[in-house]
Amino acid sequence: MHAFEATQTYFNRATEHVEMSDSMRESLQMSKRELQVQVSFHKDDGSVMNCVGYRVQHNNSRGPMKGGLRYHHEVNLDEVRALASLMTWKTAVVDLPYGGAKGGIGVNPKTLSPSELERMTRAFVDQIHDVIGPDTDIPAPDMGTDHRTMAWIRNQWEKYHGFNPAVITGKPVEEYGAKGREEATGRGVGLLTFKLLKRKGRRPHESRVAIQGFGNVGSHAAKFLHEAEFPIVAVSDVSGTYYDPRGLDIPQLLRHTLMHKGSLEGFKECERLPGEALLQTDCEVLIPAALGGVITGENVDQIQARIIIEAANGPIWPDADEQLNERGVVVLPDILANAGGVTVSYFEWVQNRQHYRWSLDRVRQELDRTLSEAFENVWHTAQDKGISLREAAFGVGIQRVKRATELSGSF
Ligand code: NAD
Repeated sequence: MHAFEATQTYFNRATEHVEMSDSMRESLQMSKRELQVQVSFHKDDGSVMNCVGYRVQHNNSRGPMKGGLRYHHEVNLDEVRALASLMTWKTAVVDLPYGGAKGGIGVNPKTLSPSELERMTRAFVDQIHDVIGPDTDIPAPDMGTDHRTMAWIRNQWEKYHGFNPAVITGKPVEEYGAKGREEATGRGVGLLTFKLLKRKGRRPHESRVAIQGFGNVGSHAAKFLHEAEFPIVAVSDVSGTYYDPRGLDIPQLLRHTLMHKGSLEGFKECERLPGEALLQTDCEVLIPAALGGVITGENVDQIQARIIIEAANGPIWPDADEQLNERGVVVLPDILANAGGVTVSYFEWVQNRQHYRWSLDRVRQELDRTLSEAFENVWHTAQDKGISLREAAFGVGIQRVKRATELSGSF
């Protein structure tokens, strides 16, 4: 299955509970604009490398479009299109005044030097600068890009359009970035896990957690949940699974990754298992926080957790999702679970436009309030209609975008 097909399946399932005309359904499924560009740049040895870059702008009914930029060798138009539409429903479900977009370059950034990455990023901006901007489409980091990439993008865009740091979010704090942006997605995942378990009548110390991926999202979620007294029994990254049924020492793991370029490789204070063992961990809560499409019809039988928090984008294929629903496994969907990042990106954009800076406390308070309100809304919608949290979250988002489209007068 392809990523876009999976997203469309979720859209279609949710719209069974939302009244709309066929033409509105068709309009909400289509992208406003899909841009594919050639990105050519000089490598350090003087040769020229050519890559393909994408920016898909899905919907702007509720405001300027917003979404990350991914540098990964598997980036393709189908995936970017799927992620752009997820951004539309994500910004709508947390009620940010934005639409949805996504972009990326099909390249493995680990094969490039920092100066090659900079030249590639600037060449990409040369191709797309006319279609992005603080009032049209505001990119942000995603897999393979970080605050430094965002600083290059801002600098290159400003060469064409003049000073305006609100063109991009996820910037370094010293370069008009927001405090708390880096931890935001993981913090949101932790907070929403806590809220969902409370609703299910489960206490933290009785809820064993397994987390796939220990990058930005996975590590911050682990930190938050460890501090909230959840036993984290397994974590994994590309190097394998690290397991301790009594609960891992998360502060020690975080120190290890700081000293080993973000990798868990070489951590010895627990049992080491193959990477695929993570999804099969005997635990109450499973948090996929790495790649999309990791839980499929083929491995869903091996999942033991009763609650899954989708920290990654699109980690569960629809056939597996159906089986999990039938088994009574509760899934908190990506468009809500990982919305902490775009929420703090919104706060960064607001601060840039006001030339004002918020304290870390204020960012955290506003993030917690925004996500809590969105969670309560989705939870009650699911309870009232007797539907899954995914159908409820998509339904809330789709309903808001549909209403804005109608109010604008196009339908
Ligand atoms: P990252 O690059 O910082 O970390 C990814 C982690 O996943 C690394 O630890 C890597 O080793 C691990 N990983 C990769 N392949 C794996 C595999 N096969 N098995 C186990 N682990 C594997 O990325 P991130 O920013 O933490 O993003 C993770 C996911 O969360 C992505 O799906 C991303 O789209 C999504 N997301 C991120 C943000 C954000 O603010 N960073 C916001 C929303 C959604």
